Amino acid sequence: MKIESGVGASFFFDEKIHRGKDFGIGEIGHIPFDTSNNAIICSCGGKGCFETILSDWAIEKKIEDKTGKKYKINEIILRANKNEEIFKNLMLELIPIYSNIIFWISTLINPEKIIFYGEISQCKDFFWKELNRKIKEGNLNRVSPLEIISCSFNNEIVVKGAIFLALENLFKK
Ligand SMILES: [Zn+2]
Repeated sequence: MKIESGVGASFFFDEKIHRGKDFGIGEIGHIPFDTSNNAIICSCGGKGCFETILSDWAIEKKIEDKTGKKYKINEIILRANKNEEIFKNLMLELIPIYSNIIFWISTLINPEKIIFYGEISQCKDFFWKELNRKIKEGNLNRVSPLEIISCSFNNEIVVKGAIFLALENLFKK
């Protein structure tokens, strides 16, 4: 799962990345979630998509609403990691929303693990422990629950993904 200015995912199983009919697999950011009247308009034209709640800009906006100041996502996470209440609480408020997406993914394709990347991967244990606890609690398979991990590659992963795809196609031909 990639959380940046957008929210998306790619699915890797049977040794390959799956793309779908219109390259649409993993467009989870555009699933409507907030159905209230004050839901935010999304870049896709829809209303209240996951992206309007979980993306970096959505978090920055929420912090601005709460504090009256502008903070970039990296500083928000830094402050959350330092236990600053407003910042930490906001990150923790996102966990039920993440759990919702993860339960859907896990029910539909039953993956072994979900890897997060983006600025959120810089969150310290307070976030990942709570997310894993929540997932374990609601997981159908309590013996071997789904593993949620954060990726330390950050932007390099895009390059690695591109190389992987190129190699995959090269050997297919
Ligand atoms: Zn959308």
